[in-house]
Amino acid sequence: QLYNEVVELKGNIRVFCRCRPLNMVEIGNGLGSVIEFDPSQDHELQVNCSDSSKKQFKFDHVFKPEDNQEAVFAQTKPVVVSVLDGYNVCIFAYGQTGTGKTFTMEGTEGNRGVNYRTLEELFRAVEDRRGIMRYELSVSILEVYNEKIKDLLVDSSDEPPKKLEIKQAAEGTQEVPGLVEIRVYSTAEVWEILRSGSRARSVGSTSANELSSRSHCLLRVTVKGENILDRHTTRSHLWMVDLAGSERVGRIDVEGDRLKESQFINKSLSALGDVISALASKTAHVPYRNSKLTHMLQSSLGGDCKTLMFVQVSPSAADLGETLCSLNFASRVR
Ligand code: ADP
Ligand code: MG
Repeated sequence: QLYNEVVELKGNIRVFCRCRPLNMVEIGNGLGSVIEFDPSQDHELQVNCSDSSKKQFKFDHVFKPEDNQEAVFAQTKPVVVSVLDGYNVCIFAYGQTGTGKTFTMEGTEGNRGVNYRTLEELFRAVEDRRGIMRYELSVSILEVYNEKIKDLLVDSSDEPPKKLEIKQAAEGTQEVPGLVEIRVYSTAEVWEILRSGSRARSVGSTSANELSSRSHCLLRVTVKGENILDRHTTRSHLWMVDLAGSERVGRIDVEGDRLKESQFINKSLSALGDVISALASKTAHVPYRNSKLTHMLQSSLGGDCKTLMFVQVSPSAADLGETLCSLNFASRVR
């Protein structure tokens, strides 16, 4: 319960900004960083624009390039653990391709991200509450590509892959019938399951990075809780979403399939922005139905659900335009 009080104080929607370090190529090109951080606080950053004006942005937390995965998870933990108290939670990584969305969510073998650390923390917290609550945890991993839902935990050698659809359940929640749910019992088995989902994300594409930047990847943790004393049960979802790259693709540069793809991405990312900003401004009508992504997440966005958005940015002068777009998007949902 303690975790939730902390979250409540800050409201249900939070936006964190994370700036990746300059990479070798950027350092080699000598362009330098256009983002300035204030060493004395972690809520604001400043962008040095090309016309030498400066733009300031405020967030619930700003992660600097030197902040590691532990530092990021320390701020994320209170939000994710609230799923054990019956809250639905959504975490998103938003930003241009190459800014570290997958690094933040998945991470690497030696530098694991939010997805793995969250499950590790949930198992730890479940253990702590053993005398009061009994929990069942299961995971699903799916992808939304061109407004089509694909199960990433289905053995891809099975012919032909099942088409998944969103169904309205009786209680007004959204379900995806047929979606594989794997019951998980310990941290030890989780990393392999996450890896297999991640591998399946790139099946059928010539370059793994290419397709993954054009699809949304969703990890769903379903938590069933039962109070040992009064037998009261809860069922809640925690979604961790690695969004498609937010970069704008010029109509002149692409045509055909690639253009269609980028239109689907634009549509779903702006639908997500519309939903979160409607929730943030407490607008009566929330337009969930404008994309598969927001429709599927409907019962986990709004009400007393917790939402956390990581806005990922690059420090490079070469990415200034996209960086400003992402920061403006983030300011809109705040
Ligand atoms: P995206 O998923 O947004 O396209 P990636 O997560 O693939 O971006 O990141 C691009 C590259 O930058 C990867 O090689 C990744 O390891 C590296 N990277 C991203 N963020 C960080 C960070 N905070 N610290 C170190 N390396 C990072
Ligand atoms: Mg990625």
